[in-house]
Amino acid sequence: MAKIFCVANQKGGVGKTTTTVNLAAGLAKLNQRVLLVDLDPQGNATMGAGINKATLQASTYEVLLGTADVATARVRSEAGGFDVLPANRELAGAEVEMVQLENRERRLRDALGLAAKDYDFMLIDCPPALSMLTLNGLCAAHGVIIPMQCEYYALEGLSDLVNTIKKVHANLNPDLKIIGLLRVMFDPRMTLSQQVSAQLEQHFGDKVFKTIIPRNVRLAEAPSYGMPGVTFDPTSKGAQAYIAFGAEMVKRIKKM
Ligand code: ATP
Ligand code: MG
Repeated sequence: MAKIFCVANQKGGVGKTTTTVNLAAGLAKLNQRVLLVDLDPQGNATMGAGINKATLQASTYEVLLGTADVATARVRSEAGGFDVLPANRELAGAEVEMVQLENRERRLRDALGLAAKDYDFMLIDCPPALSMLTLNGLCAAHGVIIPMQCEYYALEGLSDLVNTIKKVHANLNPDLKIIGLLRVMFDPRMTLSQQVSAQLEQHFGDKVFKTIIPRNVRLAEAPSYGMPGVTFDPTSKGAQAYIAFGAEMVKRIKKM
């Protein structure tokens, strides 16, 4: 049965999508069966996995509204070696349309549950907001992965996310926990990065992943080729780090 993880941080541009796509590809390299769920109307994870978001037959939108199931909406990322439940801007409409539906926070959970036996991991790329879409992600997940840049404002907003996770845990999804904080776009030459990184370790202890993702231009270039960085340039430092992170996640789920 799949373990389901949300990659979430309501801050924009902190590396959620890069993490989701490359963790998916890293896990696929470790022979794990992975479904990437694009829960962001921007559709960046869909494109980054090499799938054209403009020509989708069905998408996360239909799955949330119950007019398609995961088995019909999913497409294969040949470049990444995993399946994708794709998304595009249509998904923004779901936010409004779901308001009238019963059980609106649990739509994604119910839909993913039906496909859980097909996968070892499901990774959900959340939008940069604490919205109904993100809430659906949190209700569906066993755990949250929070990517963070080690900069001065990194901790700002983290308490909002942590409080939301606590509320969802208390009221909607008792399985939910924070799996860990992932340091991304790390620049070891910056003293500030080192300091913030040390602070995170002090505050959050073993909730901080051992793996650190460096700032690496190959990770930023890969989406324009429709490939995860992990397959675009497997020897790059960024790719190596995400493969190591995949191995760390495989180890963690054995303890769950
Ligand atoms: P949004 O909140 O808009 O969904 P996001 O949190 O998903 O953004 P990404 O899209 O993954 O963030 O990353 C933001 C930008 O930073 C992108 O241009 C991406 O290519 C770049 N980037 C992410 N991680 C790295 C890295 N480790 N090294 C270099 N560039 C990176
Ligand atoms: Mg994103």
